[in-house]
Amino acid sequence: MQILHNPSTLSHSILELVGSRLIPAYESPARISSILSALSSRPITHCTTDIDAALHAASKVHTADYLQHLRTIFPQSLEAGLIEPSGTLLPECFPSARLPGYKARNKTPTDLSARTGWYAFDLSSGIAEHTYTAALASADLARRGALAIADGEKTVFAMCRPPGHHCGKDVMGGYCYLNNTAIAVKTLLGELDDDSQGQISILDLDFHHGNGTQEVFYADQNPTYVSIHGEGEYPYFSGAPEEKGEGKGKGYNLNLPISCSQDVTWELYSPRIQQAIEKLKAVRTKYLVVSLGFDTFCNDPVGKFCLAREDYGKMGRIVGELGLPTLVVLEGGYVVEELGNNCAEFLRGLEAGKASVEVEAAVEEEVKLDDSDKLDKTCEWEKVEKSEAVNGSYTNGYTNGYCNGYKTVVNGHGRR
Ligand SMILES: [Zn+2]
Repeated sequence: MQILHNPSTLSHSILELVGSRLIPAYESPARISSILSALSSRPITHCTTDIDAALHAASKVHTADYLQHLRTIFPQSLEAGLIEPSGTLLPECFPSARLPGYKARNKTPTDLSARTGWYAFDLSSGIAEHTYTAALASADLARRGALAIADGEKTVFAMCRPPGHHCGKDVMGGYCYLNNTAIAVKTLLGELDDDSQGQISILDLDFHHGNGTQEVFYADQNPTYVSIHGEGEYPYFSGAPEEKGEGKGKGYNLNLPISCSQDVTWELYSPRIQQAIEKLKAVRTKYLVVSLGFDTFCNDPVGKFCLAREDYGKMGRIVGELGLPTLVVLEGGYVVEELGNNCAEFLRGLEAGKASVEVEAAVEEEVKLDDSDKLDKTCEWEKVEKSEAVNGSYTNGYTNGYCNGYKTVVNGHGRR
């Protein structure tokens, strides 16, 4: 397994409004420190950001004006005296569809405060001095992960931060600035010769619906997007089962919400993950990108499920048993002191699941080899019969075709 980390992802730190208080955001650099500590016995690749490549990859998902805004809004606000260097820039007004001028105002506002709200849908994605640098570093990890998978790596974990799945083509929100998962998928698609070469599926296991990822791919049949999340929870206005995709993408978007009206332990969660796996199999997934959040953990400050550490091992195992090339992209998870251990548990399960599939395949291969001896003898015998049947005009080509055909039939009838 390749584990990818970029120290620049730690540079982003913001305040958020919770109730009536501005507090350090739950989405903090300490999350990555917790994971690094829990994975310290494993080899970790420390990356630096390839800015050009990351921007190119991000441009496949996000609009040019949005990327420009993300790069410039903090320094411009600083220069205009709207913010101090250590501050967090928050929107003050959103272009709500209920405002009469909304439809007429279809181009980016020049006023800095108006622009800050134009490209955001909530107050939990403030912009600080290093937000752009960290978001680009995070996206670059996803890009690198996708390239590694395209290159034949079987499992990659991209330690992305800030997360990405709430971020749409031109709108930030929910701690997300660039959609890392979408960037990974676009990168992977770009590496495949054409769409038919491999169905990519996204399995979103964060507590919250990945509205941004859904938005990006809503009209596409590759990738398939499957999400398990809290019903009616943040971001509130997306994630219903009726949202199934549109146009060519109809049927390639599956939302599996779970009601939080009772404690959502593994017992309630696991049937949903089985449903998700069935969908991934039904669309013949060849490459899997997991949007992995740990805010499904009991007592998470922004989640309401009640999964325990060992459940992440089970979850990882189920995903691993698909036996697919898998890129895991980190999303949420805010019980910092447990985040690293939960993450390590998922990766352990993922590896165990994959290993069990490989062992099964190896045993099957061995049995095949054993049987092929017997089958060859059968072929020898059949060859004589057939040879007589075709009146002595038996040829080598016929032998091969016949034997191969025979083997297929035998295997197909399930002798083992
Ligand atoms: Zn979340």
